[in-house]
Amino acid sequence: MRVLLKHKFMEVADLNKTSKIISQVRSEGRKALLEAEAKAICMEYQIPVTTFKLAKNEEEAAEFAGQIGFPVVLKIVSPDIIHKSDAGGVKVNLKNAAEVRSAYGKILGNAKKYDSAAKIVGVLVQEMAPQATEVIVGAIKDPQFGQTLMFGLGGIFVELLKDVTFRIAPITREDAHEMMTKLKAYPLLTGYRNTPPADLDAIISVLLNTSKLVMDYPEIKELDLNPIMAYEKGAKTVDARIILE
Ligand code: ADP
Ligand code: MG
Repeated sequence: MRVLLKHKFMEVADLNKTSKIISQVRSEGRKALLEAEAKAICMEYQIPVTTFKLAKNEEEAAEFAGQIGFPVVLKIVSPDIIHKSDAGGVKVNLKNAAEVRSAYGKILGNAKKYDSAAKIVGVLVQEMAPQATEVIVGAIKDPQFGQTLMFGLGGIFVELLKDVTFRIAPITREDAHEMMTKLKAYPLLTGYRNTPPADLDAIISVLLNTSKLVMDYPEIKELDLNPIMAYEKGAKTVDARIILE
């Protein structure tokens, strides 16, 4: 039972929706949330994500793409496929209904080839986020320190150069600011050559909201917002993963 003293009505509602998603995942015996579930939780915590809609067939995919606006991205939705691109389950920059229909079929075919027993829920149609400086926000539950936040720049900066910062949650605004400034690659966020400066306040707000989320839900074992596009104004999470204990 959560104590909701002093919370505003909105926040009470938020907790309920997030709790519902987590209970649903648990009742199905799953530990990994689907991207749409993880993004729905992000939205409850004011973490900006790409708009999305779950299509169950080619027809719906084309219809939703039209509603969202081209170009769109299509992604496989399956509890058995965690790394979607490894399964040929991501098609980006689809510019019209014909491309969407064709991508839908290809994604399902690739998923079947990757794991013929995989349970397919459908295909997620989402807005295509324009390219920008990519950042990563993560959280892991450390056995000793508890919920710990991670920040870094996308691609080689995290994978190759291990240029990341960590802070134990909950973090303050100053902590969030330091998580950026302590990176070796920090100058890339303040504007460098042809790269415009990123909206640092938007990134700080993602870090603070993620801190709140993992503190509210200690059952979250891992969280991965990767990548987040960091724009001159605002930011947008393109992929979200949440794993429960
Ligand atoms: P996974 O990590 O499960 O393989 P992602 O959702 O991260 O799948 O998609 C793979 C890559 O495709 C992303 O890292 C990103 O470069 C690109 N991508 C995915 N979704 C979008 C989107 N909505 N807008 C722009 N690029 C995207
Ligand atoms: Mg990803």
